[in-house]
Amino acid sequence: MGEIESFEDLGLKPEILKAIKEMGFEEPTPIQKEAIKPILEGRDVMGQAQTGTGKTAAFGLPLIQNVIRGKGIQVVILTPTRELATQVSEEINKLSKYAGIHSVPIYGGQAISVQEKKLQKRPEIITATPGRLIDMTKRGFIHLDKVRFFVLDEADRMLDMGFIEDIKWVLDRVPDNRQLLMFSATLPIAIVDLADTHLRNPVYLDISQDTLVVPDTDQSYFIVGRRNKLWALCRILDNEKTERVLIFCQTKRMVAELNKRLRGYGYTSEEIHGDLSQAKREEALGRFKGGRARILVATDVAARGLDIPEVDLVVNYDTPEYPETYVHRIGRTGRAGRSGRAITFVTQSETHLLDKIIQFAGRPITEGKIPQGQGRDRVKKRVDFDEKADTFGMVKFVMNIGKRDGAAMNDVIKHITSHSRITDMDIGKISIGDENTEISVHKNVAMEMVKRINGSKFKGRTVNLRY
Ligand code: ADP
Ligand code: MG
Repeated sequence: MGEIESFEDLGLKPEILKAIKEMGFEEPTPIQKEAIKPILEGRDVMGQAQTGTGKTAAFGLPLIQNVIRGKGIQVVILTPTRELATQVSEEINKLSKYAGIHSVPIYGGQAISVQEKKLQKRPEIITATPGRLIDMTKRGFIHLDKVRFFVLDEADRMLDMGFIEDIKWVLDRVPDNRQLLMFSATLPIAIVDLADTHLRNPVYLDISQDTLVVPDTDQSYFIVGRRNKLWALCRILDNEKTERVLIFCQTKRMVAELNKRLRGYGYTSEEIHGDLSQAKREEALGRFKGGRARILVATDVAARGLDIPEVDLVVNYDTPEYPETYVHRIGRTGRAGRSGRAITFVTQSETHLLDKIIQFAGRPITEGKIPQGQGRDRVKKRVDFDEKADTFGMVKFVMNIGKRDGAAMNDVIKHITSHSRITDMDIGKISIGDENTEISVHKNVAMEMVKRINGSKFKGRTVNLRY
C-alpha cells in the first residue's frame, strides 16, 4: 500500500481514467486502493467495507478493464435488491462509458420480455437479483458459460434474505476458472463459511476499521425525551439549511407514523420500509433523489446499500441499538469526501447506548444544542421529565420553601406525601436551604409533583416549584 495515491497509479486504461474524471472522483477510496490491483491480477477477493465507501468502483473498474468487448456475458454481479441491481449497473455504465463495455440490470418485477430486449444489446456485464437471473438462465436467455467474473455484492444481506441456495446454484453453473469477488459490510459466520468454501487463495481486505466512521461527518447527539423528539426535529428542519435529510427510525410503524406527521406539518417527506411494494419504494426514492422530497424516513433494512446522493443530514430519530447500525446509518452522509452531518436523539435512559457507540466509533460525538426557534414552533415543546432525569431517573425540583419558613426534612416529606400520591420511595435527596429546598423525586411522579405540590400551601405560604 502506501504507494498508491491516484487512479493513474493503479494502471487503469486511459478510457477508464477519462470516465473516472468525468464522474468527479479525485482519488481512490481506501477499498479501491486495496482491491483494484489484486482483482486486476486475477485474485479472488473478500472485501469488508461499510456502505458508501465506493465498493462498486472497487470491483467495477478492474472488471471493466479485464472484460473483452463483444464476447458475451463475462461478468455476473449479484445484488440483494432490485434497486441495487439498477444502481450498480448504472454506476458501471458510467465508468465504462469510453471503454465500450456494457452492463444491464436483470431483476424480478419487470416483464421478462423487456429484459429479453435489454439482453439483445449483448452486454458484457449483468447485474442481477438471484431469482430472476436463475429464471432467465433456465429459460435460455442468459448463458453463464462465458462468465469469468462472479461478484457477490452485499453478501451479508443476500444471506440474510435467504439467497444462499440461489448463490450456490449460480456458482455451480459458471465456469470453474471464474474469479470470485465477495463484498460485505459485516462478516457473519455464514459469509466466512461461504468464502472459505468457494474462494481460492483469496486476498482478504478488511478496511472496515479505517472507514468505520466517515471522516467528514460532523456528529452530535441531543438529549431529548420521547415526547419532544418531533419538536426537536422540526426545530432542526426549520432552522438549519438542509436539502436532503435522511431520518432513521427503529420500526416500520414508527417510520410510517413520523412520515405522516411530517407531511401534516407541511414538509415534503417520503417513507421507505419493508412493508411497501417495490413500486412504492422506488417512487419514494425517486422523489427524494430528484429533490421533490426533502426528507426520507427509513428503516435500517430498507435504506441499506441504497446510493442516495449527497444527503447533508442524517437524523437518528431513535438511538440505534447496535453501534454497527449507527455506523451504517451515518455512512449515508459525508460519503467519499463530501461533508455531512449526523444527529442522534438520545433519551436519558438510552445514554448507555450512546456510550457504546462512542466507544465503538472511537471518536467523540459532541452534545449539540437544539437551535433557537424563530417565530412560532410547528410543534410545541412539552414538559418531558425523561430529559431532566439523571441516570437513576431522578428529577430535581427547587421549592421556594426554606428554613426561614420553618421547614424541616420531615415537614417537607410529609407535605408532599399528604398532598399527592407520591410516596417516600419516590423521594430522593432533599437539601434545605434558608430560602429554598432542593428535592429530587422519581421521574414517574414528577408530573404529579407539578400538579399537586406546585401551588399548594406550606405553613401558609404558596409553594412554587422550579425544575
Ligand atoms: P458502496 O457500494 O461501498 O456502498 P458505492 O459504490 O455505492 O458505495 O459508492 C458510493 C458513492 O460514492 C457513489 O455515489 C459513487 O459514485 C461515489 N464514489 C465512489 N468512488 C468514489 C471516489 N473515488 N471518489 C468520489 N466518489 C466516489
Ligand atoms: Mg454497494
